[in-house]
Amino acid sequence: MIAIKGGLLLTPSDQFDPGLLVTRGGNIEYAGPFCTDRIPRGVRVVEAAGRMIVPGFIDLHVHGAGGTLFSAARDRGDVREAELAALSTGTTAFLATVGSIGLSSKSDYIRALELLSGEVGSGDGSRARLLGIHLEGPNLSGTRPGVSKAWPKEGFGDPLCDMRDLLRAARGTVRMAVVAPELSEAERLIRFLSGAGVIVSVGHTDASYETGLEALAWGATHATHTFNAMRPFHHRDPGIVAATLLSPNVTNEIIGDGVHLHPAAARLVPQIKPPGKVVLVSDGVGLETAETGSRVMLGGVELRVLRDRVTLLDGTLAGGRLPLNMIVRNMVELSGLSLKSAIELATVNPARELGLENTGMLAPGNRADVTVLEPDFTVFLTCCGGVVHFSDARREG
Ligand SMILES: [Zn+2]
Repeated sequence: MIAIKGGLLLTPSDQFDPGLLVTRGGNIEYAGPFCTDRIPRGVRVVEAAGRMIVPGFIDLHVHGAGGTLFSAARDRGDVREAELAALSTGTTAFLATVGSIGLSSKSDYIRALELLSGEVGSGDGSRARLLGIHLEGPNLSGTRPGVSKAWPKEGFGDPLCDMRDLLRAARGTVRMAVVAPELSEAERLIRFLSGAGVIVSVGHTDASYETGLEALAWGATHATHTFNAMRPFHHRDPGIVAATLLSPNVTNEIIGDGVHLHPAAARLVPQIKPPGKVVLVSDGVGLETAETGSRVMLGGVELRVLRDRVTLLDGTLAGGRLPLNMIVRNMVELSGLSLKSAIELATVNPARELGLENTGMLAPGNRADVTVLEPDFTVFLTCCGGVVHFSDARREG
């Protein structure tokens, strides 16, 4: 049991400063205005004055953490290290996203999915929760591959059979899969995946507006890092970007780090979409703690780590550097979103997208997934299912 007192606390309907949050077991017992009577006797009290008490972040699109790429994890120990590292950025739950870096054949994918699926749902609060797998491929456009280039061909044949094999290897843990709608097999794939309960995301695509609308009619409901690795929006050729932004049922991911999108483009998306239909994602490749200026080999690819980005040696963006706490900061400080709105894009919205009950909001009875941020948005502590992790032991109080 723990009481976090004195900071700015965001609840679904209000904000309180000073606020108070009390946990019991793995759940929230109280979240509201500070009141001494609400602190149970003998409970451990953490001082959060001057800080922000918000729900734990939920990252639907992240490839790794703490130096580990999920697709290149050798064993469960590697996956768990990444889950632990995610907590230090305020992320308490995520989808392990598997792209093509580090994997060179279908059998590599099968092995990665078997390993990751064994970790889904195993969290006990000691690490961030792995909620499921996000397949960023293999059915992507050859003209909008992003850093992935093309997925490897070895072992892959009929797209539908391959997808069945991948889902089987993941034993029901694939929650989201990306399909480029202009591919000849796209309709069958999208219908099959959505029928299997997988959220279908359009992405890495050169689709027109019309093809984009068709994909939504077939069952796609999500858009992968909107604007990035998509046919660019043009006023006479608005492309799939417009199809997804104008469809109220589609949830749009944005990498609001100030690098992948101009801050104004990042601001545009929540302004167009209905509330609840935008999620911030990091697209992180696990290099959030790597030294700025360093070169790193990741899954056989050499990357350059800059202050706010990770690139191939030719300058192509290679996934994200900034984790969600820093992306939330940039949405507030660069894009001009309110703190409440920016936090919702990284907490309650992704929780709703996955249909998670009792997660993503600081309210009594909900899971005690909480992040306490410093005024500069670095993480002071993370509470995962009621288990407290200080990002710096010296500040424990
Ligand atoms: Zn990605």
